[in-house]
Amino acid sequence: MDFFSSLQELHAGLLKREATASELADLSLQRIASLDDRVHAFLHVSADCVAAAKETETVIGQERILDGIPYALKDNMCTRGIETTCASHILKGYIPPYSATVAERLNDAGAVLMGKLNMDEFAMGSSTENSGFFPTRNPWNLERVPGGSSGGAAAAVAAGMVPFALGSDTGGSIRQPAAFCGVVGLKPSYGLVSRFGLVAFASSLDQIGPLTHTVEDAAIVLQAIAGKDERDSTSANIQAPDYRAALTGDVRGLRIGIASEYFGPSVEIGVRNAVTKAIALLEQLGATVSPISLPHTEYALSAYYLIAPAEASSNLARYDGVRYGVRAVDAGNLLDMYEKTRSTGFGSEVKRRILIGTYALSSGYYDDYYKRAQQVRTLIRQDFLDAFESVDVIVSPTAPTTAFRLGEKVHDPLTMYLSDICTIPVNLAGLPAISVPCGVIDGLPVGLQMIGRMFDEQTLLRVAHAYEQAAGMAPLRPALAMGVKA
Ligand code: GLN
Repeated sequence: MDFFSSLQELHAGLLKREATASELADLSLQRIASLDDRVHAFLHVSADCVAAAKETETVIGQERILDGIPYALKDNMCTRGIETTCASHILKGYIPPYSATVAERLNDAGAVLMGKLNMDEFAMGSSTENSGFFPTRNPWNLERVPGGSSGGAAAAVAAGMVPFALGSDTGGSIRQPAAFCGVVGLKPSYGLVSRFGLVAFASSLDQIGPLTHTVEDAAIVLQAIAGKDERDSTSANIQAPDYRAALTGDVRGLRIGIASEYFGPSVEIGVRNAVTKAIALLEQLGATVSPISLPHTEYALSAYYLIAPAEASSNLARYDGVRYGVRAVDAGNLLDMYEKTRSTGFGSEVKRRILIGTYALSSGYYDDYYKRAQQVRTLIRQDFLDAFESVDVIVSPTAPTTAFRLGEKVHDPLTMYLSDICTIPVNLAGLPAISVPCGVIDGLPVGLQMIGRMFDEQTLLRVAHAYEQAAGMAPLRPALAMGVKA
């Protein structure tokens, strides 16, 4: 057993007593110790994880598949008693008095928290280079970024340090790093998974979801975290269906839509070829493929970079040095204290977003920017609704390129923003989408994105699973993770 085994295999191993839960936690610690000085996926490793694992050992039962399974959380999900920083200096030392609903649900399911994962500061970025502490590196090639903002989560799973992790996705932050690191990443429908205890970036777009090695594992983790939560007013009143039961392997008659807008000139040839091959395989499996159009796609990035910063500028107003984390010590008065705390506590990308958002919301500009962006958002959502009249799932690349080099885009925010061109429209529409590996070019993985109807995770997972099985794709194992003792 290692952390490239499926969750079902790990569970079976625990039931058969081939290993105990504390041995699995120990294995995870050893993997972190031997790899993370190069990958830098973790911000914090939990001191009492082995003891916590031991507690689950008496209760492991047939039905409780996550009992004793190690996992880790992106550091924007609150964990009671454990520092939660969002990879920002401004939250250094912040120890939440409560846990996010997702952390509680995984804890109730018996999963064992190994630690907290690196990310772009406040989830703003596509490479994890905007972390206030240090960048994470891609286990496939340490000179490359793991993607972002859930780069720590994708890298930790890809390197086999934990069998699964939770990330968050506001404009692609689960799917794009999953694609860059060769793992599965699922962004659920907006409202399916509670955001309670997720530090808010853009509240109308943020959603938590799993990063795993297989689609079945994603279904298992989703099952544990999905469903109504009274503490999140945007949580949908939905009883999560049995997601694993949807994985029939059968896609005959399923209608797949291909939108030319997602295959523009920014899509690298290698990515285009891998995705085209994957679509051909789905057709061989009995799905029908037809062209569709999502005509407002070209406006998605502009709308997102008004809506997300606007919401962020409002959400981040609370970091004033009074209530959370760090406070500037050398301030002469209250205003000076606010100013010093915020100017030293936030990194440059976060400041850029706060400035853009404050400007877009200011009186006189509100109608020109924020309101128009919301109107564009409605058009984008309508494009998808129209497309889903004739198809069941839309397939595209997850990102236009494979993992880029550290430093390549970090000084050019607009180029960085373009990494999310295929994922951002999906958040604006609130839809579920998954990225699954569909090949490796020049030693770097490629991601295939599938987009589903609102709350139709079942169909999405069914297609993704059928593809993964037929392509013989999962799990991918980077060279770094081979030949490592433990
Ligand atoms: N890269 C996008 C941004 O910087 C999306 C981030 C995310 O999904 N959290 O806003």
